Amino acid sequence: MKIESVQATPVTIAFTEPEIWSQGVRHGVTAIVVEVATNAGITGVGESVPAPSPEVTLAAIDSAAKTILGKDPRQIQRRWLDMQSLGGWCSFPYVGNSALAGIEIALWDILGQSLKAPIHALLGGPVRDRVPIMGFVQHTTPERIERDAERMASAGFTTLYTKVGLDRERDLAATAALRRGGGPQAQLRVDANEAWTPGTALRMAHALREYDLQYIEQPIRMRNIRELAELRRRSPIPIAANQSSWLNWDIADILAAGAADVIMSDPWQAGGIANFQRAAAMCETAGLPLVYHSFAPLSIATRAAMQVLCTSPACVFANQTYNHMLADDVVREPVRIEQGHIAVSSEAGLGVELDRTKLARYHEAYRQQGYASAYDNEATRAGKAFFLPNQ
Ligand SMILES: [Mg+2]
Repeated sequence: MKIESVQATPVTIAFTEPEIWSQGVRHGVTAIVVEVATNAGITGVGESVPAPSPEVTLAAIDSAAKTILGKDPRQIQRRWLDMQSLGGWCSFPYVGNSALAGIEIALWDILGQSLKAPIHALLGGPVRDRVPIMGFVQHTTPERIERDAERMASAGFTTLYTKVGLDRERDLAATAALRRGGGPQAQLRVDANEAWTPGTALRMAHALREYDLQYIEQPIRMRNIRELAELRRRSPIPIAANQSSWLNWDIADILAAGAADVIMSDPWQAGGIANFQRAAAMCETAGLPLVYHSFAPLSIATRAAMQVLCTSPACVFANQTYNHMLADDVVREPVRIEQGHIAVSSEAGLGVELDRTKLARYHEAYRQQGYASAYDNEATRAGKAFFLPNQ
């Protein structure tokens, strides 16, 4: 079997409600749908994250694709190394991983289809039939947060999450509302997305202590591993690394420094399904939970992540998705979240079929509206710089 072509299609799909986070507001998502066609009549589907922009990601995919054309797609490890070495991406993992993961996922889809087996069967098989998902409550008003938390708790989400790092009083009121709506049994977590200085993070951890949080996610700047370790030692609330655990090398550093209670990763940070499973194995070995972080991907990406998560004993906490916030999708059967879980698919490969009409519609939306960036928004245009701690 040989790879004949690699095609990448950017799409833009609106959210049903805006995402509010410490660095701005996002109204929708742009994703890159990747299709790898073979001479055997099998086409694999994957999804890439456009970081830092769709133009850069499309160029990265195009440059890496040249290194694998005409080669066997079932030799996934060798094809990944082709893209890393021949393609020159080995030294540029942040851009490379986000882009090339879409190709790697498509190769797993091809392998699964050719063997008539789901990807998780090729990774060792599932240890659970369904994967827990958290209820993502938007940081709006305390009244609305309480209502949304209550609605999600009654829909079966036992873990609820909201963004913080906007403003001290708003953060405290939002977390109180999350606890009121979620009830005493709910597992609560908040995500500051690097907004705090180490001192502010420590003060906030003490101020939030009464709400019995599962963890605070990425309270300080991602590169500050030493400070994260110190914060973990002094914080009354467990600490999760998300941006700090971007690459698998970073996870190794965090584990060595004892800098987090929870590790977050995904196939775009880690670089594909195989590297995401390696991240999960590192967490399992260290005895720490792995939580799936989502860049707001479509059902293609969520299904790819589920293939790994269902195989990992480290996946004990609820995971992040944005599927319930997407106005639409590009597959015939979008991911369904039921009672706070996504059922593990037993279909061959990734188990997705593209809806060509919708793919064309949302590609046109991308052409008309452009990139739905999380960074280019009202706040940044008004002069609020990302990465400047706001408190
Ligand atoms: Mg996060």
